Amino acid sequence: MMTTTRNFISDRVQSVPPSGIRKYFDIAANMPDVISLGIGEPDFTTPDSILRAGVRSLQAGETHYTGNSGTPELRRALSDYQRALYGVEYDPDTELLITVGVSEALYLAFTAVLNPGDEVITPEPCYVAYAPEIIFAGGSPVLIPTHAANGFQVTAAAIEAQVTPRTKAILLGYPNNPTGAVMERAELERIAQVAIAHDLLVISDEIYDRLVYGFAHTQFASIPGARDRTIVLSGFSKSHAMTGWRVGYAAGPETLLGAMRKVHQYTIMSAPTTAQAAAVEAIRSGEPDIARMVEAYDRRRKLIVKGFNELGLTCFEPRGAFYAFPNITASGLDEETFCELLIKEEQVAMVPGSAFGASGRGHIRASYATSEAKIEEALNRLHRFMQRHG
Ligand code: PLP
Repeated sequence: MMTTTRNFISDRVQSVPPSGIRKYFDIAANMPDVISLGIGEPDFTTPDSILRAGVRSLQAGETHYTGNSGTPELRRALSDYQRALYGVEYDPDTELLITVGVSEALYLAFTAVLNPGDEVITPEPCYVAYAPEIIFAGGSPVLIPTHAANGFQVTAAAIEAQVTPRTKAILLGYPNNPTGAVMERAELERIAQVAIAHDLLVISDEIYDRLVYGFAHTQFASIPGARDRTIVLSGFSKSHAMTGWRVGYAAGPETLLGAMRKVHQYTIMSAPTTAQAAAVEAIRSGEPDIARMVEAYDRRRKLIVKGFNELGLTCFEPRGAFYAFPNITASGLDEETFCELLIKEEQVAMVPGSAFGASGRGHIRASYATSEAKIEEALNRLHRFMQRHG
């Protein structure tokens, strides 16, 4: 047999460490009686009417590829949905693209716009995939730290300070994973002004737009002057508890969307057909389900934030998504050790804040997309843990 000592892996891929989240899933998967607040997905099953639409589509024999852009029904429904929610018009034929979740849409956006060395400015802590995806596409992430003291808000001034001749885009992810922070409209307007002044693209990942608590989300393209330089990415995974269906979308001006469609044509062809049929139903009838789930998340949010604060783990109040991001320095442990000991000693899985960027140090991410009973039990176990370590 031939053996080889040659390293075939590209420098780009080697330069990126594996996700700091997976490790904890793998440990948790092999443990009985574990409570996982680690995973970032709804505990709800996809609402019934949406499930049935998927099944009906399969039974009708819709088992083929769809057009590259996605089904006309879903693009038309999305165009209406964006207009109704945010007053932004997208032409269903040229300005909407159905993707395999926001995950694919991020890949398409970076691949379509980045030349080697182009810089993308993004606030952190942020979703684990942002920096790696920028690097895979040949770009360079420029990370701006944000902090609990200012509500994990990124300021337009902080972004502008990082603009160089190589800056191509600003990447925003609000409501934010992992902090639960939301962005005030006034600051987004100032960020739009920075984008205009320096002729930058804005890629806005708004996958948690529907999961907000007493807060009105601003869709970035709805800001006057922003639409023509903005790609909005969103989907159904979080709002409609549809992570496993793998369906999302990109909305933006024709030229940008056309370039993304080209990459999508050659790599994916079309998003899952069954999921697209289900997504049409999600838009048609999903509003009461969203309201029901948001109400449940809100109760859990209040429970977990209060619980952390009572344990001395100061917790910034998240206003969106389904994550709490408490400061754990009162434990005397760093976030990695905290999570490792917590799972070993008390079988509770959370994720170290540093998995989401250096400014996440001293924090952990707890997903509250789980039942109140499990959150209460996790808090009991944390209480015991803090008595030993606090
Ligand atoms: N963007 C953010 C901020 C996320 O948290 C996630 C999933 O956790 C994604 C994108 C990917 O979502 P999708 O299931 O649509 O690929």
